[in-house]
Amino acid sequence: MMQLYQPLNILGFAYREIKQSLIDMEKMFDLLAIRPEIADREGASVLDAKGAAVNFDDVRFGYGPDREVLKGLSFTAEAGQKTAIVGPSGAGKSTIARLILRFYDPTGGAVRIGAADIRSVTQESLRASLGVVPQDTVLFNDTIGYNIGYPKPDATQDEIERAGQLAQIHAFIEGLPKGYETLVGERGLKLSGGEKQRVAIARTVIKNPPILLLDEATSALDSETEAGILASLNEVASGRTCIVIAHRLSTVVDADKIIVIEDGRLVESGNHRDLLRENGLYARLWLQQSMAREKGTLETA
Ligand code: ATP
Repeated sequence: MMQLYQPLNILGFAYREIKQSLIDMEKMFDLLAIRPEIADREGASVLDAKGAAVNFDDVRFGYGPDREVLKGLSFTAEAGQKTAIVGPSGAGKSTIARLILRFYDPTGGAVRIGAADIRSVTQESLRASLGVVPQDTVLFNDTIGYNIGYPKPDATQDEIERAGQLAQIHAFIEGLPKGYETLVGERGLKLSGGEKQRVAIARTVIKNPPILLLDEATSALDSETEAGILASLNEVASGRTCIVIAHRLSTVVDADKIIVIEDGRLVESGNHRDLLRENGLYARLWLQQSMAREKGTLETA
């Protein structure tokens, strides 16, 4: 009986996790391999994503037949650059990330990495090419060192500590009585949202993927934590194709390109200064968030 319960539990867990958001992609990948409609094609090739751009070519997609969420979306996240996706709540930002990860296939158009349609490559090679920093990192009930090193089972302690340093969590871990051997997760030390994101960044360093996908936390971190996380991310992102699903505009000011979407369509793109000058949706969202920030500052002053 236990044998039967286990997969059912896992499926229930998977469903809840997917429903919530991107959560922890790394952990979900294997579970999602059971989606029957997403299968490797016969003769699927191995993706080589080094130095590759990510391209949406007239992508259409809906979760059900009644409602289209992406309505002919085209954009390119250039190789080696940081591209931010912004737009009002419900515009389709997280859906873009789910399509890149091939949780679903588009109903029209194509998602390409380099020249390859991602439906034509093996899922294993697609996943190996993508480093995901999710909104909410799920930790294994194991040591913090294991949690950082698990994308690479033969990672040395040295590599794990260097990843911890790059993600700016090394000093925190060294300050714990058992250091990297400290148990975390439900039955161990509880980490804050910012600390968990740093663990996710350190994992990405260990994985060393050519493409980074960051789903920024919607819950506001304090501005010092946010600045620190951005600094470590920028370090890790340098030289890689980086896509940020941005829920707060303060974090996208330095992006090479900002893609503004509304109701599943691209409405503007450019860098922060271009878009402010255009005085369109981005400029309006920026003004709204600046006012909200100011109000927050006044209220807490
Ligand atoms: P937010 O900034 O609020 O996170 P978003 O721009 O990331 O929003 P998405 O999560 O991509 O928006 O959702 C786009 C639309 O698709 C929304 O209307 C949402 O209700 C719908 N949607 C998202 N996930 C599912 C799902 N699993 N099943 C059905 N509809 C969904």
